[in-house]
Amino acid sequence: MLEIEAKFPCPDRGPPLARLAAWGARELPAREESDTYLNAPDRDFARTGEALRVRRAGDTVAVTYKGPRLPGAVKTRAETELAFAPDVSASDAVALLTSLGYRVVADVRKTRRLFELRRDGFDVTVCLDDVAGVGVYAEVEILGQAGDVPRAQGVLLALAADLGLGEQEPRSYLRMWLENQPEAPVRETETRVLRTVAEVRAAVADARRAGKRIGLVPTMGALHEGHAALVDAARRESDFVVVSVFVNPTQFAPHEDFTRYPRTLETDVALCAAHGAAVFAPEPGEVYPEGATTFVEVAGLSQVMEGAARPGHFRGVATVVLKLFEVVQPDVAIFGQKDAQQCAVIRALARDLLSPVRIRIEPTVREPDGLAMSSRNRYLSPEHRAQAVVLSRALADAQTAVDAGERDPLTLERRMAERIADAPDARLDYARVVDARTFEPLTTLDRPAVAVLAVFLGTTRLIDNAPLSVPEAANR
Ligand code: AMP
Repeated sequence: MLEIEAKFPCPDRGPPLARLAAWGARELPAREESDTYLNAPDRDFARTGEALRVRRAGDTVAVTYKGPRLPGAVKTRAETELAFAPDVSASDAVALLTSLGYRVVADVRKTRRLFELRRDGFDVTVCLDDVAGVGVYAEVEILGQAGDVPRAQGVLLALAADLGLGEQEPRSYLRMWLENQPEAPVRETETRVLRTVAEVRAAVADARRAGKRIGLVPTMGALHEGHAALVDAARRESDFVVVSVFVNPTQFAPHEDFTRYPRTLETDVALCAAHGAAVFAPEPGEVYPEGATTFVEVAGLSQVMEGAARPGHFRGVATVVLKLFEVVQPDVAIFGQKDAQQCAVIRALARDLLSPVRIRIEPTVREPDGLAMSSRNRYLSPEHRAQAVVLSRALADAQTAVDAGERDPLTLERRMAERIADAPDARLDYARVVDARTFEPLTTLDRPAVAVLAVFLGTTRLIDNAPLSVPEAANR
């Protein structure tokens, strides 16, 4: 069935009521209608032009689906309406749909007076509506088949003119109702914990509908000020920020700390709330559905340094980041320089897969003594925590040497290793100066370079890095 319908502002009902009475239109009992509109988990109805609604009108409850608008001067859409059995309440019907992933976007109430008449061979309905939070409107409507459309559209426009109705209102009641809502308080919408892909998609769709830009900050939780700085950066570049909190199993090698990795969701949510971001905290099965066998790998970069020390690590990182891009579809995603090789992997991933997501890298946030903040710092004993200061000192030494004219990566690496040796319990995994983009070895500092370190203190492995700035004049 097609619904062919035109809507008009009707602040003065006098003239249309007089005409309807003169034509002998049949008036049905006036009724209160309460319409709950829902959005889909897999697409945004605001974009596709579809609508799904549960309507309670008196004792009857029905669900109505409306398709996208078809061409023509009068709004014409496919409509399917199914009435529920008399003992089904509107809230039961809505609950059924929300358990399938649909989300309520609005409850629109109106008082409706209905008139029926025949006009040029069509059954026409005229509604005079007083819509809460929207205003007073008249609708003229014909239900017909595809072949009826051009004639029915003409009949409705002529009828509306005869009723004294002026300019058509193209917006739906839902659209007008949403536009009239005051901006939802930021905190309320942005501190929710989203658990499923469907919930994220719906929240992002809502934000997009409100014209917001979307930011993503992928994390494994146990959030600290370093993560908070990324959230703040995301807030500067977007209006709706999703922080994913997900200890990603595929980026841990079998012998690593996956099971004992700190999980502090409650405080993570509080931090995100304080910084105005929503949290996406899925279960592993949500991110890796049963039977999932697809992985992405950035070749080359993923095999050296951290990749060599942690086989499979960057394959897990690249895969989960790509999945998060697919779920959130952000305009911008923020990562920390703290994980320099990860940043290089993500940049390569986005470049190679032609991703539209803008990648931003934020500087490393440090403790007052220079130790890079990390969720793993909490594993350190007080003694090892004190010794951990050698990492940032080693990096500072490398930069000091560069400032003094040193350009040989091997010499810089030796300097760093010497400083690490100041800590009696430190065991150097690697100290390297490499190409900042490819992580390949350098013979001299003739391109952007980064000093990278991995150091064991007890069983805790710490990493840190510093992009080396080469004074330009000296470099010529
Ligand atoms: P993680 O939760 O350790 O996987 O880190 C999530 C994001 O936060 C990554 O982009 C990290 O590089 C970033 N990050 C972690 N520690 C810091 C820090 N101290 N400063 C800036 N960014 C950080």
